[in-house]
Amino acid sequence: MSKVANSEHEINEVARHRKRINLYKRIIIILIIAMILLPTILCVVLFLRLNYVSNKLDELSKVVYSNSQNLVVDNDVNQNQGEKGTEPDYYNSNSNTNNKPENPTEPSTEAPTEPIVVPPTEAPTQAPTETVPDVPKIPGATEYSDEVKQALSKGRKVVYLTFDDGPWEKTDAFLDVLNQYGVKATFFINYHEGFEDELIRMREEGHTIAMHSYSHVYEHVYGDISEFESEIVKLQDYIFSVTGVKSTIFRFPGGSSNSKTNKIHTYIDYLNDNGIVYYDWNVASADATPGGLPASKICNNVINGVKGKDVSVVLMHDAYDKDTTLEALPMIIEKLQAMNALILPITEDTVPVHHNHISTGG
Ligand code: ZN
Repeated sequence: MSKVANSEHEINEVARHRKRINLYKRIIIILIIAMILLPTILCVVLFLRLNYVSNKLDELSKVVYSNSQNLVVDNDVNQNQGEKGTEPDYYNSNSNTNNKPENPTEPSTEAPTEPIVVPPTEAPTQAPTETVPDVPKIPGATEYSDEVKQALSKGRKVVYLTFDDGPWEKTDAFLDVLNQYGVKATFFINYHEGFEDELIRMREEGHTIAMHSYSHVYEHVYGDISEFESEIVKLQDYIFSVTGVKSTIFRFPGGSSNSKTNKIHTYIDYLNDNGIVYYDWNVASADATPGGLPASKICNNVINGVKGKDVSVVLMHDAYDKDTTLEALPMIIEKLQAMNALILPITEDTVPVHHNHISTGG
C-alpha cells in the first residue's frame, strides 16, 4: 500500500516540477519578446518625434530667413541704375521749407552712388532661448498677406507705386491719373503748407499717406536723435491733424542707405521702438536724375525693374518739376495692368523692402 502511495507521490512531484518548468519557460519567452519589442517601439516613437522636431525647425528657419531677407543686401538694388541716393534735393538748410523753392528746375545732385558696405551683423540684444527663435527686432510684416500670396501663386507680379517729396501742385494731377485707372498708391510726404486738400484727397481715395520727414532737410533729419524724433513727431501730428490718420510708415530721405549719415542704425532703433516701419525701394524710376528723364525712359526703368522681381516697391516723385513722371504714369499703369500685375498701396501688412546700410559714411 505504502509503495503505491509513494509512487503516486512521485508522479505528483514530477507533474508539479514540469508545471514549474513550463511556467519558467513562459516567463523567459515573455521576457525575451519584451526585450525585442520594447526597443522597437522606442525606436518608432523616437523616429516620429524626430520628424516632428525637424519639421518645426524648418518652419522656424523659414521665419528667421524671411526676416533676415529684409535686412540683408538687396543685390538687385545695386544693379539698378540710379536706385540709391537719387533723391532730388528741393530743400537746403537755408531755405524756408514751408515755401516752394524759387528755382525749382534744378534739383541738385546728391548722394553719389557709393559702394555698399555690408555692416557687421549686430549682436542680438537678447539671449536666444531654446523655444523662441532669434527673430530680429524689426516691426513690420514678416510674411506676405493672403492677397499677395494668392497673386504670386498665380504668377502675377505685385507692385507698390510710391511717390516721394510731395504734396506739391502737381499732386492733384497724379491723383487724377491713379483715380482714372483705379490704382491705389503710397505717398511719402513732407510738410508743405497749403497742400492739405491733397492730403485729404489721398485719404478719401484710398491711398496711403506715409512719412518722409517733416523738412526733408538732411542737416535737420540726420542731426542728433532728438532732431530726428522731432522730424517724425511733427509730421505725424500734422498728418493726423489734417486727415485723422496716424501714419506709422516711413521712408528715410535719400533711403536708408543714404550717405548723409553714419548713424542710420540709431534712427532705425528709434523707429523700431516707436512701432514705425520704414520702407526703401527695389525699383527706381530714376525720375530724380539731374536734368530729368523723358517719360518713355522712366516708364522703361519701372517696367524693366518690375519684370525682374516678384514684388516691387517702385520709387517715383510727385514733386512740382516731375512733368515727365506724370506723363509716364499712365504708360506705366497700362503696362502693369497688361501684365496683370497686382498694384497695391503699402500698408502695415506689407513686407518691408530694406536697403543695406552704409556703416561708415559722410
Ligand atoms: Zn525725398
